Amino acid sequence: MKIIDAHVHFSSIQTFVETAHKLADVEYNEGGLLAEYEQLGVVAAVGMGLEESRVGAFPDEEAPALMGLNLKNRPSQIGVCIGINPFALTASELERLDAKLEDPTVVGVKIYLGYYPYYAYDSIYTLVYELAEKHDVPVVFHTGDTYSADALIKYAHPLTIDEVAVKHRNVRFVMAHLGDPWCLTAAEVMYKNHNVFADLSGLIVGTRNRVEPHMDTSNPYFDHFRHALVFGDSYDRYMFGTDWPLVQVRPYMEWLAGIIPERYHEKFFYETALRVFPKLEGLMK
Ligand SMILES: [Zn+2]
Repeated sequence: MKIIDAHVHFSSIQTFVETAHKLADVEYNEGGLLAEYEQLGVVAAVGMGLEESRVGAFPDEEAPALMGLNLKNRPSQIGVCIGINPFALTASELERLDAKLEDPTVVGVKIYLGYYPYYAYDSIYTLVYELAEKHDVPVVFHTGDTYSADALIKYAHPLTIDEVAVKHRNVRFVMAHLGDPWCLTAAEVMYKNHNVFADLSGLIVGTRNRVEPHMDTSNPYFDHFRHALVFGDSYDRYMFGTDWPLVQVRPYMEWLAGIIPERYHEKFFYETALRVFPKLEGLMK
């Protein structure tokens, strides 16, 4: 089976470097990623653009307005979602975004709700949504718990996605992490709005030892997540993603393969990501 990883990182962010090394036992560079992908048949991936202005600054008001993937030697099958720093988003930066979205390797836009203190429906992002519509690329939102204690999670609650989904019906929106732990709310937003999708990345961080206890479905820790998937009944709009380097690809994939009903595996691991990020077609290995 061909696989697309709809959510990875390939940026020099201190907390990611530390987690990859200490918790996930991941080699956070080109060779490490390709070794994991080649074993499993991962043919394309979506990298979430992110940069910090100095080591350890993330989430960062001083970061570039348009954030990319700044580790060296990015594998060519990784498309980028340009990360937006709303504090730096001037008219000229929006013009630059317009131009960048013409690039075949730029497959979408990423907005870091919670890390930056604006709601998805704040007018600060309106022109970004208009550009996403113009270029037929999706907007990915961070939703749910944040990987920094300095973030403000109220801005990342999935209920806040409903309003943008209604106002911008021609834009495809992706809720990263299905709003975990507010998965049931995220599932309702998806059920109601057919232009909303979710990636199921980043729900577990670390090595196989941290993933394996959750493969036992008598463990209630992820009852809320499994309930939400069934309640949302949107199996054609959930996508596989890892949040690599925060977790190793294989154990995370095996965990989700045990939860998503087998008849939806083609859609979940491959087809839906191509529908959401059509430019990935040109990057596949
Ligand atoms: Zn991520």
